[in-house]
Amino acid sequence: MNSDKTKILLLGAGGFIGTNLTEQLLKNEKYKVTAIDINTEKLEGSLQNKNLIFKEYDIRDSNYPIEELIKNNEIVVDLIAMANPSLYVSNPIDVFNLNFTENLRIAELCLKYNKRIIQFSTCEVYGKTVASVLKEDPIKRPFPFNEDTSPMIMGPIKNHRWIYACAKQLLERVLHAYGIEKGLNYTIIRPFNFIGPRIDFLPSEKSGNPRVFSHFMNGLLYGTPIRLVDGGLNYRAYTYIDDAIDCIIRIIENPDGVCDREIFNIGTPENEISIKDLATLMKEIFNQNFRQNLDPDPKIISVSSEEFYGKGYEDCDRRIPDVTKARTKLNWYSKHNIESVVFNTMEYFVNKHRAKYN
Ligand code: UDP
Repeated sequence: MNSDKTKILLLGAGGFIGTNLTEQLLKNEKYKVTAIDINTEKLEGSLQNKNLIFKEYDIRDSNYPIEELIKNNEIVVDLIAMANPSLYVSNPIDVFNLNFTENLRIAELCLKYNKRIIQFSTCEVYGKTVASVLKEDPIKRPFPFNEDTSPMIMGPIKNHRWIYACAKQLLERVLHAYGIEKGLNYTIIRPFNFIGPRIDFLPSEKSGNPRVFSHFMNGLLYGTPIRLVDGGLNYRAYTYIDDAIDCIIRIIENPDGVCDREIFNIGTPENEISIKDLATLMKEIFNQNFRQNLDPDPKIISVSSEEFYGKGYEDCDRRIPDVTKARTKLNWYSKHNIESVVFNTMEYFVNKHRAKYN
């Protein structure tokens, strides 16, 4: 009998956040998870679990029985996204259609069947810092992004990188409007640079343009140059995936409804680092802990963003999450500092690589 279990529909369960979340939910007997994705590769360890139903569907396929799935579950967690900066530049229309149009359909079905929706958004909705617009140094003027008070500053239309941030922002605005006008019960999550095992892929092993960690890791394992886009002067604050999942589960559990119609940043402000310093830190941690005799010693070089991404790219200079809400409402604190985030993620890639080649 499963009737006492909370039934969760996890859309986009096969990605980096989805697989880690599925595994963690399945450790708790109280959840029954229906997981949907176009890809099973990363979920393999969970597929036999009795509390998991996995269905391989593409949300864009008209035969996809989304209405039935939403009707039969209590909470919908929507992780479906194209969330990779190189795609914002190369495939802006696909990025808009998936991140806005398809996700809006899901939200509207949640409204129709009165289901709670947890919608993954992005810290990119904040855009750039006020300091960067005023041409001030964002380091001298820290500007933490707050869910309910910060303005959102995007670049011009010709820099089509912002289509992702705009699609996500518009989706958030529609969810909010459905909340106030029709009572939709939503929670929006804005992740700030989660990393950990299973993030992306190494570009020497699979074609494509993953996020920065995988590029730098590729350099350490395969000797390709570590490329700093426009000198690597922008900042990111990294959160270890286990910490992020801990917060997401607290949001799913929603004690006393504290997450109803709320937006949550999930991030670790203490783990802020420039991309240039990330490259140096990764080299140091690799050399101290993982280096073997025949491993390459990659050069660190600077490349222009146009060379790296093509025309239409523009960067977010600094993204400091204000996590007061997650701390006060959910008593959530991340536990991993930047060294442990980098070490643990690196260990995963190194082990995988050594298992393949040694
Ligand atoms: N970046 C870099 N070298 C790379 C890949 C990315 O310097 O090989 C930079 C990129 O321009 C951005 C930052 O690293 O400033 C983080 O990019 P990522 O692709 O990880 O995603 P984002 O945090 O922008 O979503």
